[in-house]
Amino acid sequence: MAVPQNKITRSRRNNRRSHDALVADNPNECANCGELKRPHHVCASCGHYDDRQVISVVDDIDLDDDAA
Ligand SMILES: [Zn+2]
Repeated sequence: MAVPQNKITRSRRNNRRSHDALVADNPNECANCGELKRPHHVCASCGHYDDRQVISVVDDIDLDDDAA
């Protein structure tokens, strides 16, 4: 089993972990619908990116009872 050759001091360990903190998302407002969205990502609620429709968003999927 691999064993550390030297002790990592609390200072070195904590210095290494100083970059480990998670950062919160930085959501942008969608220019089309105003919903919060991730920057540089297609808006999930309206399907717009860069002021144009890139994916179609279906509001309500109507499932047929016979098909299910
Ligand atoms: Zn949108």
